[in-house]
Formats: sequence, structure tokens, C-alpha cells
Amino acid sequence: MMVSMNYLLLTIDYELFGYGNYLGDVIHHIINPAKQLIGLSEKYGIPFTFYFEIEEYIKFEKHSHRLKKNLGYDPAKMIFDNLQEIINSGNDVQLHVHPEWHRATYNNDKWFLCLNENTVDSLYKDQADTTNFIRSRKEIIETITSKSHKLHKIVAFRAGGFNARPALKLLPALRKNGIVFESSLVKGLYQKSPLGFVDYRKCPADKTLWRVDDDICMENELGLIYEIPIYSIFKRRFRHLTYNKIRTKTSKDIPKNKKIDFLKQLNINNPAKLIKYLMQKAPVKMDIHNQSPKYLINLLNAAIGSGHASSFPNIFVAIGHTKEHNEMNCKAIEQFLQKLPIIPDLQIITFTQLYNIFQDQGYIK
Ligand SMILES: [Zn+2]
Repeated sequence: MMVSMNYLLLTIDYELFGYGNYLGDVIHHIINPAKQLIGLSEKYGIPFTFYFEIEEYIKFEKHSHRLKKNLGYDPAKMIFDNLQEIINSGNDVQLHVHPEWHRATYNNDKWFLCLNENTVDSLYKDQADTTNFIRSRKEIIETITSKSHKLHKIVAFRAGGFNARPALKLLPALRKNGIVFESSLVKGLYQKSPLGFVDYRKCPADKTLWRVDDDICMENELGLIYEIPIYSIFKRRFRHLTYNKIRTKTSKDIPKNKKIDFLKQLNINNPAKLIKYLMQKAPVKMDIHNQSPKYLINLLNAAIGSGHASSFPNIFVAIGHTKEHNEMNCKAIEQFLQKLPIIPDLQIITFTQLYNIFQDQGYIK
């Protein structure tokens, strides 16, 4: 009997915070967390895919002289070296873009981001410019990673703030650059934030991936790009406001303005509004920095058990963020990795490995 394989991709967004007065710092919110995750990966033989936010790196490199003077270290150089560690330890690096950094300026030792430019589509009028933009980002990362692994290729993309739509220019740009996996979508997500407006309420409900052509929410059997959403389930909010999530979102490592935003969203001072908010249904993501090991294992078991209407293997994408990493959730992630082998027929892979599997099976021409 053929056992159908299930694949889990543990993806980590590798970045600072995206808005507000304090964006975090590279050592505390990127490098140290990534090093701890690399350590766990080596200890348990489980790989992560780091979604590297390229735009902030480009800015750090541009202003490296001033940043070095102000911070006492060169953040771009640190990231460059850290990416070598990631690749050398068998982990993966793929493309993450926060467009609001693209035309950001550094004045009087402060960053000013362009929050109204929050999708790749919003950056350039023309398709050709958008395609060149993605090409240059892919090339910059491949130039860095080739120092440790000559053949490493960018094959997967994630938009900043989950904000990929309309993707009319983005999808052709990915296609022309050989990027075949798109993983920005969260089923059912409806969100207005400083990073834009996202509406993923209409998309294939019973699939863990589908082919797309000009809209990531619309299945198109002729499409050459695979949309692989960040795995989520739809629940009333009070059921996923877990202890781990509250601890993570209000931890001392999170900038003050982010904590205020989190509490504002909850309407913590208005019991009637708070109850209404908690009763609303919303997607809960498979998030290794916000959920307990037990919750994640139950979520995975339920996901695998429910089966999916697709000829493809079952693929589950979990998310995490270097900027949300702390001592408490690091321990929880370790326990989760320890428990993972109890799930039968589950393989934990990177996007590079998924690309190779899809090539072997003829899903990618
Ligand atoms: Zn991001």
C-alpha cells in the first residue's frame, strides 16, 4: 500500500519590526534568534527555511558606514555572515520582501519607511521594472549564499505583512525568475494594518496548495506557480488567544508600540468590545513562536487526519519570526521539535528540498 507523504515546512521570517519608532535591532531580533534556531536545527536534524527580508539588508549595506559608527557594529556584515551559517548548517534561505523598506531613508540616525508602499505591485508601474526588481533581489541573495553553497537557488517568495495581492505584476515577475512557490496567503485572513489591507476570505478552502496564474486566491490549473498558504484553521478568537501567544506578544523583547497595538486590537479597556472581538472568527496560523508544542502537535495531527482534495502531497507551512523569539518560546520550540517524530509519515523539509521533490515528480517542468 502506498503511504501518502505529508511534508512540513518550518519557515522563519528573518527581519526587524516593520513600523513604529523603534524597529528593533539586528543582533537582538535577528542574529541571536537565528543562531539559536540553527542550534536547535543541528541538535534535532530538522531544517528551517529562513525567509530573508532583503530590502532592509540592502539599506543596512547602503548605510553601513553610518550604522557602524552609530551602533558599533555593521548590521549588513553580521547578516551576511549569519546567512553563511544558515546555509552551512543545512538550513534554507528564501526571498521575503517588505516593500516599505525599498524607498526608506535614514536621516538623523532614524529610519523612515514608506508605509504606503506595502506591496511589490505598488513599487513600479511597469511589469518590466517589477520583473527586474525581483531578479535583482534573487541575484543579491544568491550571490551571498553562493559563498557557502554554489547551487543554492531562490525558489520561494513571501510578501511582507502577508500582503501579496493583487499580485498582477508580482506573479509574472516570480514566474520569469524561476520562483515557483508563493507562501504569503493565510486562508480567511482579513486585516487592516499599517502594512496594508489584506483580504483572503475567498480562496480554495479544502486544499493545502494550488496552482495560480494571476491571483494567489484563485486556482488555475495552467498556472506555473504554486500557492502554498501558511497553514491556519478558522476559530473564534478567544480559542486561539493562548497563554503562549499573549506571553510572546507582550514579552519584554517586543517594542512598546507593538505591545500597545496588540492591546488596542484586543480593546482591553472596553469589556463589551473585547467580548465582541473575542467572539469573531479569525484564522489561527501554525506559528511556532506563538503556540505551545502540544497545540502545534494537535494542529498537525488534525490537519493530516482531515485529508485534502488534491492530487499533490499534503504540504503544511508553519511560520515563526526571529523578532518574536525569546527564551520562553525557544524552549517551547525545542519541545515541539522533540515531539515531531511521533507524527507518522511526516517529513520536515525546506523549500529547496520541496523544489527537488516537485522536479522529481514532474510537477515542475
Ligand atoms: Zn515579514
